[in-house]
Amino acid sequence: MRTEQIRLSPLAPGANLSLTIHRFGTAGARPRVYVQAALHADEIPGMIVAHHLREQLLALEAEGRIEGEIVLVPSANPIGLAQKVLGEPVGRFDLSNGMNFNRGYPNVIAEATARVEALLTGEADTNVRVIRDALLIELSEWKTASAAEVLKKTLLELAIDADYVFDLHCDSEAVMHLYTHPLSSDELAPLAAFLGAKAVLVADVSGDDPFDEACSRPWAELAGRFPDRPIPMACHATTLEFRGEMDVSDELARPDAAALISFLILRGVIAGAVPVVPPAQCAPTPLAGSEPVIAPASGMVIFRKNVGDTVKAGEVVADIVDPLTGNALQAHSAADGIMFARILLRFASEGQRIAKVAGTTVTRTGKLLGA
Ligand SMILES: [Zn+2]
Repeated sequence: MRTEQIRLSPLAPGANLSLTIHRFGTAGARPRVYVQAALHADEIPGMIVAHHLREQLLALEAEGRIEGEIVLVPSANPIGLAQKVLGEPVGRFDLSNGMNFNRGYPNVIAEATARVEALLTGEADTNVRVIRDALLIELSEWKTASAAEVLKKTLLELAIDADYVFDLHCDSEAVMHLYTHPLSSDELAPLAAFLGAKAVLVADVSGDDPFDEACSRPWAELAGRFPDRPIPMACHATTLEFRGEMDVSDELARPDAAALISFLILRGVIAGAVPVVPPAQCAPTPLAGSEPVIAPASGMVIFRKNVGDTVKAGEVVADIVDPLTGNALQAHSAADGIMFARILLRFASEGQRIAKVAGTTVTRTGKLLGA
């Protein structure tokens, strides 16, 4: 393991921050895998998976089994990790402007299209090299205007030319689930199975440009724009949600890290006996069919369904009880599917989303991710 530090733009003169990066295997070797944890800085379940992954990769490296290259950023957001408001950590949003740290990554597809148009050939490997070079050049030209943008640019420069990108997150209270591009769901199906994912949510475009899509979308869209040239899906990126905020334990994280390793063995990044892929626990469903459960009134939230439960459209998910009157209204699921996440605080205001159900029918358009 080679560890390096990348200095980030100072938040203020003298207030320097840095990213710590671990590299395993041979620089430039393929497949190249990029893993980062806690882009939303206070999401510790991903951070502990990265911790166990580092330990397991160290052991595999000592055995000479790393065939490709693995880049691991175990704590991807030092800006967010230092933020607190009234004692509470705030790792999801940049306090300077309210921007979500997992939104607003640059979409360089238009510029990359112009750059590669005359260079693409009839040979897929050449096209992959040409496109990776173009993406890195366009990204290098992003004129950043804040410490958070410098952070985003630095992370994306580490990831955008990888074959696989794993962005390790968690939800509020949830079962294991992941987000990916529809063109990557088959490739990543064994990963979902190794992790025991209960929902796989796919979208061409989720809206607001999250990190994983900044890595994966260029390949899908360039293939669409140049149908006569072979352009494979050369970067499979996924946002992995390691359950809920409180799910931080060695007992969960050690097998989660082992699941990532199993996938990397399957894909030839790590040498070893090819593991048997367990049966999938779910089929991919459209992110546009992931239905929020809405609180019909303000009040205490008394859940009648747990995360991981299968619900039917119209079924009661929670009672919402007005603390002043005692009146109770019911919050219903709008779709059939697994209820894969719900809020932590057991109080909601009218119209608030209190849970998510992975429905199979596309019902939503526009921005598909929450705030
Ligand atoms: Zn997150």
